[in-house]
Amino acid sequence: MLHKVSLGTGNIDKYRLIQNREVIDEVVNLGEELKGLRLCHINSTPFGGGVAELLISYIPLLRAVGIEADWQIIRGDRRFFTITKGLHNALQGAVYEESRNVKTQRVYQSNNETNARELDPNYDVFIVNDPQPAALRHYSPDSKAKWIWRCHVDSSEPDDVTWRFLRPYIEEYDAAVFTTEDFIPPNLHLAKIATMAPAIDPFSSKNMFIKRYVCRELLENLGIDRHRPLITQVSRFDRWKDPSGTISAYRLAKAKIPELQLALVGSFVIDDPEAWDIYAAINEEAIRDDDIFVFSNLTGVGNMEVNAFQRASDLIIQKSLKEGFGLVVAEALWKGTPVIAGNTGGIPLQMPGDLSNYLVDSVEECAKNIVYLLKNPAISKSLGEKGKEIITENFLLPRLIRDELTLIKSLVAK
Ligand code: UDP
Repeated sequence: MLHKVSLGTGNIDKYRLIQNREVIDEVVNLGEELKGLRLCHINSTPFGGGVAELLISYIPLLRAVGIEADWQIIRGDRRFFTITKGLHNALQGAVYEESRNVKTQRVYQSNNETNARELDPNYDVFIVNDPQPAALRHYSPDSKAKWIWRCHVDSSEPDDVTWRFLRPYIEEYDAAVFTTEDFIPPNLHLAKIATMAPAIDPFSSKNMFIKRYVCRELLENLGIDRHRPLITQVSRFDRWKDPSGTISAYRLAKAKIPELQLALVGSFVIDDPEAWDIYAAINEEAIRDDDIFVFSNLTGVGNMEVNAFQRASDLIIQKSLKEGFGLVVAEALWKGTPVIAGNTGGIPLQMPGDLSNYLVDSVEECAKNIVYLLKNPAISKSLGEKGKEIITENFLLPRLIRDELTLIKSLVAK
């Protein structure tokens, strides 16, 4: 059997303290209508990265409103995950000729076939996240469940060859979900295509309130000088997150603000064999500069520390070149910390109005904004405050649960 992530049951009522009551009431009502529905999310890693982050809070909250929710993780060897990382990159637009290679296709198919055999099939609805397990529906031909494919990346312009390979698997689903309309790939024929943005859990250890002095102490323990300005990027070690662009922007900014420090907080995940090379390249740079710090989940920098970095940094940078949504942007803004981020994917959704002035298309623009905001703390503060309002209104977990249960209701009603 596939591994089920062990999780508890949440408490929907405490969200009434911070979120619009109407949304919570809608969630509670949907839960009552769908009471007892057996729902299973499937993905390829139980930690690191946005999907795992989401599901850790999401599943307990679904249980809290009466849904029998679970989360199963597919298995795969290094060869499989190297291929699926290629597919992931290709959905975001990278050329991936390998996906026409029959042997490559066979590795993908046989891993999905094996996982389908080991899947606990006793659910009414499966939600399959991202391309790694996308063929599970194909290899579960007798399933009477409703199947939803949830794509978390910007798949607006996928690599042609790869999309030709994956599309038939996706078209076997009852519905597909994308973060925005713009991400729906070309020629996708499905009875139902829905859009909904991800969300963050304000009560998770990643986002819960921590007093500022505790954050500063946590950071000081990691070698950060609390009396000097700090900018931080939090992301998987992934080329689309552009850590080298962030380092270049930091260097340009440091020429104007010599006391500047940069922290790169990254995580390794099971399904990403490319991460070690990116990590090595970043370390090369960090070795030559005492004010660049590199941390990861492997060295004990977990949720609480990320929380502290997002709260106590003067600015959060997310210089992505491609981005599905960028939960890290929502996490930082929720904490009232201003963000400078790549003008790509789902990031602009989270940074409308004045915040959009800090969406950047180049290293130079990023550096210029770092210097500007560090020299204008009042503007930084007001951006953080506006950001917190935007996230509170649009990107907290109950809204996502409402959207997903509404979709499920429409599918099971048929
Ligand atoms: N994250 C973390 N530790 C790290 C790096 C990232 O906990 O060292 C978390 C981060 O806080 C966020 C998630 O991983 O919750 C990344 O989600 P995002 O949507 O930003 O990017 P993805 O990894 O899904 O592309």
